[in-house]
Amino acid sequence: MIVSYGALVLWVRQVMRYFIKTYGCQMNFNESQKVDALLRRQGFEPVSSPATADLILVNTCSVREKPEKKVFSLIGRLKSPEKIVGVMGCVAQQYGENMLKKEKGVDFVIGTQALHHIPEIVSKALGKKGRITDTGFTDPETSLAVFREPLISPGVSAYVTVMQGCNRFCSYCIVPYVRGRERSRYSEEILAEVRDLARRGVKEVVLLGQNVNRYGLDRKGDLTFPQLLRRIEKIGGIKRVRFVTSHPADLDDEIIHLFGELETVCESIHLPFQSGSDRILRLMGRGYTRAMYLRKIEKLREVKPEISITADVIVGFPGENERDFNETLSLMETVQFDALFSFRYTPRPLTRAARYAGQVPEEIKLKRLQTLQILQSEITLKKNRLQEGKLKKVLVEKPSKHPEGFMMGRTRDNRIVNFEAPKRLAGQEIDVRILEGYQNSLLGKVEGVYVY
Ligand code: SAM
Ligand code: SF4
Repeated sequence: MIVSYGALVLWVRQVMRYFIKTYGCQMNFNESQKVDALLRRQGFEPVSSPATADLILVNTCSVREKPEKKVFSLIGRLKSPEKIVGVMGCVAQQYGENMLKKEKGVDFVIGTQALHHIPEIVSKALGKKGRITDTGFTDPETSLAVFREPLISPGVSAYVTVMQGCNRFCSYCIVPYVRGRERSRYSEEILAEVRDLARRGVKEVVLLGQNVNRYGLDRKGDLTFPQLLRRIEKIGGIKRVRFVTSHPADLDDEIIHLFGELETVCESIHLPFQSGSDRILRLMGRGYTRAMYLRKIEKLREVKPEISITADVIVGFPGENERDFNETLSLMETVQFDALFSFRYTPRPLTRAARYAGQVPEEIKLKRLQTLQILQSEITLKKNRLQEGKLKKVLVEKPSKHPEGFMMGRTRDNRIVNFEAPKRLAGQEIDVRILEGYQNSLLGKVEGVYVY
Protein backbone atom coordinates (compact mmCIF):
# COMPACT_ATOMS: atom_id res chain seq x y z
CA MET A 1 0.00 0.00 0.00
CA ILE A 2 1.01 3.65 -0.32
CA VAL A 3 1.15 6.02 2.61
CA SER A 4 1.48 9.65 1.69
CA TYR A 5 2.47 12.61 3.79
CA GLY A 6 2.75 15.89 1.91
CA ALA A 7 5.37 15.41 -0.73
CA LEU A 8 6.55 12.29 0.99
CA VAL A 9 5.40 8.96 -0.41
CA LEU A 10 6.23 5.85 1.49
CA TRP A 11 5.84 2.26 0.29
CA VAL A 12 4.92 -0.14 3.04
CA ARG A 13 4.71 -3.88 2.38
CA GLN A 14 1.92 -4.44 4.87
CA VAL A 15 -0.34 -2.26 6.99
CA MET A 16 1.57 -0.84 9.95
CA ARG A 17 -0.13 -1.55 13.26
CA TYR A 18 0.40 0.95 16.04
CA PHE A 19 -0.28 1.26 19.74
CA ILE A 20 -0.22 4.52 21.73
CA LYS A 21 0.33 4.53 25.48
CA THR A 22 -0.59 7.84 27.11
CA TYR A 23 0.57 9.17 30.49
CA GLY A 24 -0.52 12.41 32.12
CA CYS A 25 -3.35 14.87 31.81
CA GLN A 26 -6.34 15.45 29.53
CA MET A 27 -4.14 17.53 27.24
CA ASN A 28 -1.86 14.56 26.62
CA PHE A 29 -4.90 12.38 26.07
CA ASN A 30 -6.25 14.81 23.46
CA GLU A 31 -2.85 14.94 21.74
CA SER A 32 -2.81 11.15 21.53
CA GLN A 33 -6.31 11.24 20.03
CA LYS A 34 -5.06 13.67 17.37
CA VAL A 35 -1.95 11.60 16.60
CA ASP A 36 -4.20 8.56 16.38
CA ALA A 37 -6.34 10.36 13.79
CA LEU A 38 -3.24 11.48 11.88
CA LEU A 39 -1.82 7.95 11.70
CA ARG A 40 -5.14 6.44 10.64
CA ARG A 41 -5.47 9.00 7.86
CA GLN A 42 -2.07 7.83 6.65
CA GLY A 43 -3.32 4.23 6.46
CA PHE A 44 -1.92 2.91 9.76
CA GLU A 45 -4.08 0.56 11.84
CA PRO A 46 -4.56 0.86 15.61
CA VAL A 47 -4.24 -2.23 17.86
CA SER A 48 -5.15 -2.57 21.50
CA SER A 49 -1.91 -4.14 22.76
CA PRO A 50 1.79 -3.31 22.29
CA ALA A 51 2.42 -7.03 21.68
CA THR A 52 0.72 -6.95 18.26
CA ALA A 53 1.98 -3.50 17.23
CA ASP A 54 4.75 -2.69 14.74
CA LEU A 55 4.96 0.86 16.05
CA ILE A 56 4.67 1.81 19.72
CA LEU A 57 4.29 5.46 20.67
CA VAL A 58 4.64 6.53 24.29
CA ASN A 59 3.10 9.92 25.11
CA THR A 60 4.79 11.09 28.27
CA CYS A 61 4.34 13.46 31.22
CA SER A 62 7.15 15.04 33.25
CA VAL A 63 5.12 17.28 35.56
CA ARG A 64 5.95 15.04 38.50
CA GLU A 65 8.67 12.48 39.10
CA LYS A 66 6.35 9.48 39.33
CA PRO A 67 4.85 9.56 35.81
CA GLU A 68 8.33 10.18 34.42
CA LYS A 69 9.67 7.07 36.18
CA LYS A 70 6.75 5.04 34.81
CA VAL A 71 7.71 6.09 31.26
CA PHE A 72 11.26 4.78 31.63
CA SER A 73 10.08 1.56 33.20
CA LEU A 74 7.68 0.98 30.27
CA ILE A 75 10.30 1.81 27.64
CA GLY A 76 12.67 -0.67 29.32
CA ARG A 77 10.04 -3.40 28.98
CA LEU A 78 9.22 -2.58 25.34
CA LYS A 79 12.65 -3.30 23.91
CA SER A 80 12.25 -5.39 20.75
CA PRO A 81 14.35 -5.26 17.57
CA GLU A 82 11.29 -5.85 15.33
CA LYS A 83 9.27 -2.96 16.70
CA ILE A 84 9.69 0.75 16.20
CA VAL A 85 9.44 2.67 19.47
CA GLY A 86 8.83 6.43 19.54
CA VAL A 87 8.61 8.74 22.55
CA MET A 88 6.58 11.95 22.42
CA GLY A 89 5.35 14.53 24.96
CA CYS A 90 7.02 16.34 27.86
CA VAL A 91 9.66 13.72 28.77
CA ALA A 92 10.67 13.53 25.10
CA GLN A 93 11.03 17.31 25.03
CA GLN A 94 12.96 17.34 28.29
CA TYR A 95 15.51 14.64 27.35
CA GLY A 96 15.76 15.18 23.58
CA GLU A 97 18.84 13.41 22.15
CA ASN A 98 19.79 12.16 25.61
CA MET A 99 16.75 9.90 25.50
CA LEU A 100 18.31 8.03 22.55
CA LYS A 101 21.61 7.73 24.45
CA LYS A 102 19.85 6.55 27.61
CA GLU A 103 17.40 4.15 25.98
CA LYS A 104 18.87 2.01 23.23
CA GLY A 105 15.47 0.59 22.28
CA VAL A 106 14.03 3.99 21.33
CA ASP A 107 14.02 4.81 17.59
CA PHE A 108 12.74 8.37 17.68
CA VAL A 109 11.97 11.21 20.05
CA ILE A 110 9.36 13.82 19.13
CA GLY A 111 8.98 17.01 21.14
CA THR A 112 5.78 18.71 22.18
CA GLN A 113 5.68 21.07 19.17
CA ALA A 114 6.45 18.60 16.38
CA LEU A 115 3.64 16.04 16.61
CA HIS A 116 2.46 16.76 13.06
CA HIS A 117 5.83 15.35 11.85
CA ILE A 118 5.04 11.88 13.19
CA PRO A 119 4.13 10.18 9.86
CA GLU A 120 7.28 11.55 8.22
CA ILE A 121 9.47 10.45 11.12
CA VAL A 122 7.88 7.01 11.27
CA SER A 123 8.60 6.52 7.58
CA LYS A 124 12.25 7.46 8.13
CA ALA A 125 12.45 5.07 11.08
CA LEU A 126 10.95 2.33 8.93
CA GLY A 127 13.55 2.97 6.27
CA LYS A 128 16.18 2.53 9.02
CA LYS A 129 17.53 6.01 8.33
CA GLY A 130 19.06 6.26 11.76
CA ARG A 131 17.59 7.28 15.10
CA ILE A 132 15.76 10.59 15.04
CA THR A 133 15.24 13.50 17.44
CA ASP A 134 12.80 16.30 16.58
CA THR A 135 12.43 18.53 19.63
CA GLY A 136 12.85 22.04 18.24
CA PHE A 137 10.33 24.75 19.09
CA THR A 138 8.60 26.07 15.98
CA ASP A 139 6.43 29.09 15.19
CA PRO A 140 3.14 29.20 17.13
CA GLU A 141 0.95 28.10 14.25
CA THR A 142 3.05 25.12 13.15
CA SER A 143 3.42 23.97 16.74
CA LEU A 144 -0.38 23.56 16.95
CA ALA A 145 -0.84 21.94 13.53
CA VAL A 146 -1.69 18.47 14.90
CA PHE A 147 -4.90 19.83 16.45
CA ARG A 148 -6.40 20.33 12.99
CA GLU A 149 -6.92 16.55 12.69
CA PRO A 150 -10.61 15.69 13.28
CA LEU A 151 -11.19 13.19 16.10
CA ILE A 152 -11.95 9.63 14.97
CA SER A 153 -14.95 8.72 17.15
CA PRO A 154 -15.69 11.61 19.46
CA GLY A 155 -18.56 10.16 21.57
CA VAL A 156 -20.90 12.37 23.60
CA SER A 157 -18.24 14.54 25.25
CA ALA A 158 -15.07 15.65 23.45
CA TYR A 159 -11.88 17.47 24.35
CA VAL A 160 -10.90 20.52 22.31
CA THR A 161 -7.44 21.95 22.91
CA VAL A 162 -7.66 25.74 22.61
CA MET A 163 -4.12 26.65 23.61
CA GLN A 164 -0.80 25.19 24.66
CA GLY A 165 2.10 26.33 26.81
CA CYS A 166 2.30 28.66 29.77
CA ASN A 167 3.92 32.00 30.62
CA ARG A 168 3.51 31.85 34.38
CA PHE A 169 6.66 29.95 35.42
CA CYS A 170 5.47 28.84 38.87
CA SER A 171 8.67 27.99 40.72
CA TYR A 172 7.94 24.23 40.96
CA CYS A 173 6.62 23.62 37.45
CA ILE A 174 8.37 22.23 34.38
CA VAL A 175 5.51 22.98 31.96
CA PRO A 176 6.78 26.31 30.50
CA TYR A 177 10.13 24.66 29.74
CA VAL A 178 8.77 21.57 28.01
CA ARG A 179 5.65 23.06 26.44
CA GLY A 180 6.93 26.53 25.62
CA ARG A 181 5.14 29.88 25.88
CA GLU A 182 1.38 30.39 25.55
CA ARG A 183 0.09 29.77 22.05
CA SER A 184 -3.60 29.99 21.19
CA ARG A 185 -5.24 28.30 18.23
CA TYR A 186 -7.12 30.56 15.81
CA SER A 187 -10.67 30.96 17.10
CA GLU A 188 -12.06 30.18 13.62
CA GLU A 189 -10.25 26.83 13.69
CA ILE A 190 -11.62 26.02 17.16
CA LEU A 191 -15.17 27.04 16.21
CA ALA A 192 -14.98 24.93 13.04
CA GLU A 193 -13.86 21.96 15.14
CA VAL A 194 -16.71 22.44 17.62
CA ARG A 195 -19.26 22.79 14.77
CA ASP A 196 -17.95 19.58 13.22
CA LEU A 197 -18.14 17.77 16.59
CA ALA A 198 -21.73 19.00 17.04
CA ARG A 199 -22.63 17.66 13.59
CA ARG A 200 -21.20 14.30 14.61
CA GLY A 201 -23.38 14.08 17.74
CA VAL A 202 -21.12 15.58 20.42
CA LYS A 203 -23.15 17.35 23.12
CA GLU A 204 -20.39 18.53 25.45
CA VAL A 205 -16.99 20.07 24.76
CA VAL A 206 -14.20 20.36 27.31
CA LEU A 207 -11.83 23.17 26.33
CA LEU A 208 -8.23 22.44 27.27
CA GLY A 209 -5.18 24.59 28.00
CA GLN A 210 -2.66 25.06 30.81
CA ASN A 211 -4.30 28.40 31.59
CA VAL A 212 -7.42 28.74 29.43
CA ASN A 213 -8.40 32.07 30.96
CA ARG A 214 -5.57 33.64 28.96
CA TYR A 215 -6.82 32.19 25.67
CA GLY A 216 -6.34 34.60 22.75
CA LEU A 217 -4.21 37.15 24.58
CA ASP A 218 -1.21 36.14 22.45
CA ARG A 219 -3.19 36.73 19.22
CA LYS A 220 -3.91 40.40 18.73
CA GLY A 221 -7.26 40.89 17.00
CA ASP A 222 -8.59 37.39 17.70
CA LEU A 223 -11.26 36.47 20.26
CA THR A 224 -10.62 36.47 24.01
CA PHE A 225 -11.71 33.54 26.19
CA PRO A 226 -15.12 35.05 27.12
CA GLN A 227 -15.76 35.94 23.46
CA LEU A 228 -14.86 32.39 22.42
CA LEU A 229 -17.32 30.96 24.96
CA ARG A 230 -20.08 33.28 23.74
CA ARG A 231 -19.52 32.08 20.17
CA ILE A 232 -19.57 28.41 21.20
CA GLU A 233 -22.87 29.03 23.03
CA LYS A 234 -24.46 29.77 19.63
CA ILE A 235 -23.38 26.48 18.03
CA GLY A 236 -26.51 24.32 17.72
CA GLY A 237 -26.32 20.90 19.36
CA ILE A 238 -23.65 21.79 21.96
CA LYS A 239 -25.46 21.65 25.28
CA ARG A 240 -22.55 21.84 27.69
CA VAL A 241 -19.14 23.49 27.85
CA ARG A 242 -16.44 22.91 30.46
CA PHE A 243 -12.89 24.20 30.57
CA VAL A 244 -9.62 23.28 32.33
CA THR A 245 -7.43 24.70 33.75
CA SER A 246 -8.25 28.14 35.15
CA HIS A 247 -5.56 30.03 37.04
CA PRO A 248 -6.84 31.97 40.08
CA ALA A 249 -4.88 35.11 39.12
CA ASP A 250 -6.33 35.11 35.58
CA LEU A 251 -9.93 34.24 36.45
CA ASP A 252 -11.44 37.72 36.21
CA ASP A 253 -14.95 39.01 36.87
CA GLU A 254 -15.96 38.74 33.20
CA ILE A 255 -15.16 35.01 33.16
CA ILE A 256 -16.83 34.48 36.55
CA HIS A 257 -20.03 36.13 35.26
CA LEU A 258 -20.11 33.78 32.25
CA PHE A 259 -21.24 31.04 34.64
CA GLY A 260 -24.45 33.02 35.08
CA GLU A 261 -24.67 34.45 31.55
CA LEU A 262 -24.21 31.38 29.34
CA GLU A 263 -26.48 28.36 29.50
CA THR A 264 -23.88 26.02 28.04
CA VAL A 265 -21.22 26.82 30.65
CA CYS A 266 -21.61 24.11 33.29
CA GLU A 267 -21.55 24.98 36.97
CA SER A 268 -18.21 23.40 37.78
CA ILE A 269 -14.71 24.80 37.86
CA HIS A 270 -11.24 23.42 38.46
CA LEU A 271 -9.29 26.16 40.23
CA PRO A 272 -5.95 24.91 41.63
CA PHE A 273 -4.87 26.70 44.83
CA GLN A 274 -1.62 24.72 45.48
CA SER A 275 -1.24 25.98 49.08
CA GLY A 276 -3.26 27.76 51.76
CA SER A 277 -0.21 29.62 53.11
CA ASP A 278 0.67 33.07 51.76
CA ARG A 279 4.34 32.47 52.51
CA ILE A 280 4.36 29.32 50.35
CA LEU A 281 2.22 30.89 47.61
CA ARG A 282 4.82 33.64 47.37
CA LEU A 283 7.65 31.10 47.13
CA MET A 284 5.69 29.25 44.47
CA GLY A 285 5.31 32.49 42.50
CA ARG A 286 1.59 31.95 42.07
CA GLY A 287 0.59 35.62 41.87
CA TYR A 288 -2.28 35.55 44.40
CA THR A 289 -2.80 35.36 48.13
CA ARG A 290 -5.04 33.10 50.18
CA ALA A 291 -7.51 36.00 50.63
CA MET A 292 -7.58 36.67 46.87
CA TYR A 293 -8.25 32.99 46.18
CA LEU A 294 -11.07 32.88 48.73
CA ARG A 295 -12.60 36.04 47.26
CA LYS A 296 -12.74 34.38 43.80
CA ILE A 297 -14.54 31.40 45.35
CA GLU A 298 -17.05 33.75 47.01
CA LYS A 299 -17.70 35.54 43.72
CA LEU A 300 -18.18 32.23 41.89
CA ARG A 301 -20.70 31.15 44.53
CA GLU A 302 -22.47 34.53 44.36
CA VAL A 303 -22.99 33.96 40.61
CA LYS A 304 -23.76 30.20 40.90
CA PRO A 305 -24.40 29.01 44.47
CA GLU A 306 -24.47 25.36 43.36
CA ILE A 307 -21.15 25.49 41.45
CA SER A 308 -18.86 22.54 42.17
CA ILE A 309 -15.26 23.46 42.86
CA THR A 310 -12.27 21.17 42.44
CA ALA A 311 -8.58 22.03 42.72
CA ASP A 312 -4.95 20.89 42.78
CA VAL A 313 -2.81 21.16 45.89
CA ILE A 314 0.85 20.40 46.58
CA VAL A 315 2.17 19.29 49.98
CA GLY A 316 5.79 19.42 51.13
CA PHE A 317 6.87 22.36 48.98
CA PRO A 318 10.40 23.49 50.06
CA GLY A 319 10.19 25.42 53.32
CA GLU A 320 6.61 24.28 54.12
CA ASN A 321 6.29 23.93 57.91
CA GLU A 322 3.44 22.57 60.04
CA ARG A 323 1.87 26.02 60.25
CA ASP A 324 1.84 26.41 56.46
CA PHE A 325 0.41 22.94 56.09
CA ASN A 326 -2.33 23.69 58.64
CA GLU A 327 -3.24 26.74 56.59
CA THR A 328 -3.72 24.46 53.59
CA LEU A 329 -6.02 22.25 55.68
CA SER A 330 -7.94 25.27 56.95
CA LEU A 331 -8.42 26.58 53.40
CA MET A 332 -9.87 23.18 52.48
CA GLU A 333 -12.23 23.37 55.48
CA THR A 334 -13.32 26.86 54.42
CA VAL A 335 -13.87 26.13 50.73
CA GLN A 336 -15.25 22.57 51.05
CA PHE A 337 -13.97 21.40 47.68
CA ASP A 338 -16.07 18.84 45.85
CA ALA A 339 -12.89 16.93 44.98
CA LEU A 340 -9.17 17.59 45.16
CA PHE A 341 -6.11 16.35 43.27
CA SER A 342 -3.30 16.30 45.83
CA PHE A 343 0.37 15.85 45.08
CA ARG A 344 3.56 15.40 47.01
CA TYR A 345 6.08 18.01 45.84
CA THR A 346 8.88 16.57 43.71
CA PRO A 347 11.76 18.73 42.45
CA ARG A 348 11.72 19.06 38.68
CA PRO A 349 14.73 19.86 36.51
CA LEU A 350 15.10 23.47 35.32
CA THR A 351 12.70 24.81 37.96
CA ARG A 352 13.64 27.38 40.61
CA ALA A 353 12.13 25.47 43.52
CA ALA A 354 14.41 22.49 42.87
CA ARG A 355 17.26 24.72 44.06
CA TYR A 356 15.40 26.14 47.09
CA ALA A 357 16.69 25.45 50.59
CA GLY A 358 14.45 23.60 53.04
CA GLN A 359 13.47 20.58 50.93
CA VAL A 360 10.99 18.63 53.07
CA PRO A 361 11.84 14.99 53.99
CA GLU A 362 9.83 12.36 52.10
CA GLU A 363 8.27 10.84 55.23
CA ILE A 364 6.87 14.24 56.27
CA LYS A 365 5.48 14.86 52.77
CA LEU A 366 3.82 11.45 52.84
CA LYS A 367 2.34 12.00 56.29
CA ARG A 368 0.94 15.40 55.27
CA LEU A 369 -0.45 13.97 52.05
CA GLN A 370 -2.23 11.23 54.00
CA THR A 371 -3.71 13.69 56.52
CA LEU A 372 -4.90 15.94 53.70
CA GLN A 373 -6.42 13.09 51.71
CA ILE A 374 -8.32 11.76 54.73
CA LEU A 375 -9.83 15.21 55.32
CA GLN A 376 -10.76 15.60 51.64
CA SER A 377 -12.37 12.15 51.36
CA GLU A 378 -14.63 13.07 54.29
CA ILE A 379 -15.60 16.34 52.61
CA THR A 380 -16.14 14.69 49.19
CA LEU A 381 -18.29 11.92 50.66
CA LYS A 382 -20.33 14.42 52.70
CA LYS A 383 -20.93 16.56 49.60
CA ASN A 384 -21.89 13.55 47.49
CA ARG A 385 -24.34 12.40 50.18
CA LEU A 386 -25.89 15.87 50.15
CA GLN A 387 -26.96 15.10 46.57
CA GLU A 388 -29.26 12.28 47.76
CA GLY A 389 -32.90 12.97 46.93
CA LYS A 390 -32.08 15.72 44.40
CA LEU A 391 -33.32 15.65 40.81
CA LYS A 392 -30.34 16.30 38.52
CA LYS A 393 -30.01 16.89 34.77
CA VAL A 394 -27.66 14.18 33.57
CA LEU A 395 -26.00 13.96 30.16
CA VAL A 396 -25.91 10.24 29.37
CA GLU A 397 -22.46 9.22 28.10
CA LYS A 398 -21.88 5.45 27.84
CA PRO A 399 -22.48 2.05 29.45
CA SER A 400 -21.36 2.05 33.06
CA LYS A 401 -18.38 -0.06 34.16
CA HIS A 402 -20.41 -1.65 36.91
CA PRO A 403 -23.75 -3.47 36.76
CA GLU A 404 -24.99 -4.77 33.41
CA GLY A 405 -27.76 -2.59 32.00
CA PHE A 406 -26.46 0.55 33.71
CA MET A 407 -25.33 3.71 31.97
CA MET A 408 -23.07 6.47 33.24
CA GLY A 409 -23.50 10.18 32.80
CA ARG A 410 -22.52 13.46 34.39
CA THR A 411 -24.46 16.12 36.21
CA ARG A 412 -23.80 19.71 35.18
CA ASP A 413 -21.73 20.06 38.35
CA ASN A 414 -19.51 17.25 37.03
CA ARG A 415 -20.52 14.35 39.26
CA ILE A 416 -20.55 10.87 37.77
CA VAL A 417 -23.93 9.14 38.07
CA ASN A 418 -24.70 5.48 37.34
CA PHE A 419 -28.32 4.48 36.62
CA GLU A 420 -30.27 1.75 34.87
CA ALA A 421 -31.12 2.83 31.32
CA PRO A 422 -30.97 1.58 27.73
CA LYS A 423 -27.85 2.36 25.68
CA ARG A 424 -29.99 4.35 23.26
CA LEU A 425 -30.20 7.18 25.81
CA ALA A 426 -26.53 8.06 25.18
CA GLY A 427 -26.33 11.72 24.18
CA GLN A 428 -29.61 12.73 25.84
CA GLU A 429 -29.93 15.03 28.82
CA ILE A 430 -32.34 13.36 31.25
CA ASP A 431 -33.69 13.83 34.77
CA VAL A 432 -32.17 11.45 37.30
CA ARG A 433 -33.18 11.21 40.96
CA ILE A 434 -30.09 10.68 43.13
CA LEU A 435 -30.53 7.70 45.44
CA GLU A 436 -27.08 7.38 47.02
CA GLY A 437 -23.85 9.34 47.15
CA TYR A 438 -20.52 7.47 47.31
CA GLN A 439 -16.89 8.55 47.37
CA ASN A 440 -16.39 8.83 43.61
CA SER A 441 -19.86 8.63 42.10
CA LEU A 442 -23.61 8.73 42.65
CA LEU A 443 -26.30 6.12 42.15
CA GLY A 444 -29.50 7.36 40.50
CA LYS A 445 -32.86 6.44 39.01
CA VAL A 446 -34.19 7.83 35.75
CA GLU A 447 -37.35 9.93 36.19
CA GLY A 448 -39.80 10.89 33.46
CA VAL A 449 -40.55 9.23 30.15
CA TYR A 450 -37.99 9.20 27.35
CA VAL A 451 -38.35 8.33 23.71
CA TYR A 452 -36.02 5.39 23.32
N1 SAM B 1 -1.81 24.98 34.88
C1 SAM B 1 -2.36 24.40 36.03
C2 SAM B 1 -2.31 25.40 37.19
O1 SAM B 1 -1.83 26.45 37.11
O2 SAM B 1 -2.75 25.03 38.25
C3 SAM B 1 -1.70 23.12 36.43
C4 SAM B 1 -0.97 22.32 35.49
S1 SAM B 1 0.13 21.14 36.18
C5 SAM B 1 0.42 20.28 34.73
C6 SAM B 1 -0.93 20.06 37.11
C7 SAM B 1 -0.64 20.03 38.58
O3 SAM B 1 0.54 19.32 38.85
C8 SAM B 1 -0.41 21.37 39.24
O4 SAM B 1 -1.59 22.05 39.51
C9 SAM B 1 0.32 21.01 40.50
O5 SAM B 1 -0.56 20.78 41.56
C10 SAM B 1 1.03 19.70 40.12
N2 SAM B 1 2.48 19.90 40.02
C11 SAM B 1 3.16 20.62 39.11
N3 SAM B 1 4.48 20.57 39.37
C12 SAM B 1 4.64 19.79 40.46
C13 SAM B 1 5.76 19.36 41.23
N4 SAM B 1 7.00 19.73 40.92
N5 SAM B 1 5.54 18.54 42.28
C14 SAM B 1 4.29 18.16 42.61
N6 SAM B 1 3.19 18.54 41.94
C15 SAM B 1 3.36 19.35 40.87
FE1 SF4 C 1 2.69 25.16 35.62
FE2 SF4 C 1 2.03 27.38 36.92
FE3 SF4 C 1 1.84 27.28 34.25
FE4 SF4 C 1 0.12 25.88 35.76
S1 SF4 C 1 0.33 28.12 35.69
S2 SF4 C 1 1.23 25.15 33.97
S3 SF4 C 1 1.39 25.26 37.46
S4 SF4 C 1 3.71 27.17 35.44
